[in-house]
Amino acid sequence: MKIEDKNVVSIKYVLTDSENNVIDKSEDGKFSFLIGAQNIIPGLENALMSKAVGDKFDVSIPPAEAYGEYNKDLVHKVPRTQFPADVEIEVGMQFQGQTADGQMTIVKVAEVADDHIFVDNNHPLAGVQLNFAVEVTNIREATDTEIEHGHVHGEGGHHH
Ligand code: ZN
Repeated sequence: MKIEDKNVVSIKYVLTDSENNVIDKSEDGKFSFLIGAQNIIPGLENALMSKAVGDKFDVSIPPAEAYGEYNKDLVHKVPRTQFPADVEIEVGMQFQGQTADGQMTIVKVAEVADDHIFVDNNHPLAGVQLNFAVEVTNIREATDTEIEHGHVHGEGGHHH
């Protein structure tokens, strides 16, 4: 069986950046996702198509096919008064915020000025090239319910 749309695929992987730092890994072979449901980044999904169980490969994914290019317009200047007065704000701290349309979001402190804080709404991996070492451990057909829900059920997936 070769990976195609609407398959449930399980892999082992190690994810590194361009300096060979390990960003993330899953080595029990149970990381599972539904192909064609935006469960994983497009670049990794494309690289998996037509692979079979036992296939091992390395793939480098540019930001555009991963978490997007770094966008300077997503750095915003916020008055210091919008942050808790009793907390010392430092670069790298993360806060929960709200976008204009009411969505919850995590913002990261990019720069601290006297009366303003610059916060960064970019995904932490925006602008980063992602290098995956992958081994395919399982492939199966998705159930109708999984396709309807857009995610995997059972082992390595949702339980509900
Ligand atoms: Zn479900």
